[in-house]
Amino acid sequence: MSQEDAPTLVFDLDGTLIESISKQNGGIHRPAASFPPSDFHIFENTSREREVRVRHGCRELLKGVSAVGFRIAIWTAAPRDYAEAIVDGLDRHVFSGLKTNLVALLTEEDTHSGGIKDLAGNCNQLESPLWRVLIVDDNPRTYSNNESNALPVPRFCGAWDDTLLALRDFLTEMHEATGGVVLDVTGWRYVNKYAKLQPLRNPKDPGHRSEEGAESAVGDGELTGPSRGAPWGDPAAQGLGTMGGSELC
Ligand SMILES: [Mg+2]
Repeated sequence: MSQEDAPTLVFDLDGTLIESISKQNGGIHRPAASFPPSDFHIFENTSREREVRVRHGCRELLKGVSAVGFRIAIWTAAPRDYAEAIVDGLDRHVFSGLKTNLVALLTEEDTHSGGIKDLAGNCNQLESPLWRVLIVDDNPRTYSNNESNALPVPRFCGAWDDTLLALRDFLTEMHEATGGVVLDVTGWRYVNKYAKLQPLRNPKDPGHRSEEGAESAVGDGELTGPSRGAPWGDPAAQGLGTMGGSELC
């Protein structure tokens, strides 16, 4: 597999990998037992100081997917200086390879996305064609144009959950089972089971065209192919869940 065909994971920040709370506002009052200490602060000793909590399993996820060959990008609606401060904190406190391995750091200032992350329109910045990109986000609106590329996660509000560890296992097992060739979100525990999701296919691959029949008209950046399920992940076994998330949200 060439480097340009290596799969790219596009992670959201707030609500997905981390949460941050303004120190100036005195934080949010929550039960101490499910409200762990912060992992790091950003903009320290300024009026913008925020305490940051990292979601359980973030280190294992980033290390695990990087080790098997996924590339990592971050796309947030937050301002660029905030995004850079969070990435710096994650690099220092969570996964020291993050900054050097980061393919792209996209913010609203770069993309003017208006709340919808246009994967197809930003393939150049992500250095990947659309069929090699998966997005991990807690807000379904952001990937509403690309649901077959999306790995939904419940919103993280500071409490423990196993979402990122489960995501690491799902992605690494998928990569190992297919050599990284297939990207198929259909077996992920939080996908919308009523959506017509499809494994991502190379739209220029003539083998896929003939295999899938005439109704699968394809074009650049278009997703095609019927969902055949995920042989490496049984949706029932993973517990097709809701997006309920933490009771603290
Ligand atoms: Mg978010």
